[in-house]
Amino acid sequence: MTKSERAELLTGLLSQVDLTPPERYLDKFPHELSGGQRQRVAIARALGATPQVLLADEPVSMLDVSIRIGVLNLLQNLKEKFDLAILYITHDIASARYFADTTMVMYAGQIIERGPSEMVTQHPAHPYTRLLIASAPDPDQLTGRDSRPAKGEPPSLITPPSGCRFHPRCPFAMERCLTTTPPTFSVDDGQEASCWLYAEDATLEREAAFGVHQ
Ligand code: SF4
Repeated sequence: MTKSERAELLTGLLSQVDLTPPERYLDKFPHELSGGQRQRVAIARALGATPQVLLADEPVSMLDVSIRIGVLNLLQNLKEKFDLAILYITHDIASARYFADTTMVMYAGQIIERGPSEMVTQHPAHPYTRLLIASAPDPDQLTGRDSRPAKGEPPSLITPPSGCRFHPRCPFAMERCLTTTPPTFSVDDGQEASCWLYAEDATLEREAAFGVHQ
């Protein structure tokens, strides 16, 4: 590839991630860019491989809140423009709702809930997802959605707890949770949770836990 071909390729990639005019960024060093600009360069580098799938691991967690939305919107636009599949990994479940069609929630290395993002964030099923969402700041919910905090620490992945890995911290743990790993139960249309509370014979325990029939 000649120098001019390389420059043309790079200016094209920089334009794709809205670093314009691209010529201004071609010769810059990382320390001369802001955090948001560096993240856009990282996305441009990924696009250089003409991918079908992008793995975006905490792409906005180090950015100021004010510029996170710009990078998420960029990824959203690129997803549609290039028909990309994006696996977005985050601790910020609110941004997952904004960004992702489908959300999978992991605890101690296992997927414990999955479903359409709207369902998982608005009607979380698994006790861990409920606590995760209740712990997110929400000015409209100043009293919190679940007043029972998770006790304890995240478990060791080398010697994880028996049965349900969340049982040492779960306010609803039952006898079987301590010994037997829960299978995945269907909760609602497309929503699934790995929790014994959704077993057919656990209706009473589920109602006692959540206060309503679910
Ligand atoms: S399986 Fe048991 S311990 Fe695990 S989340 Fe459900 S109720 Fe809690």
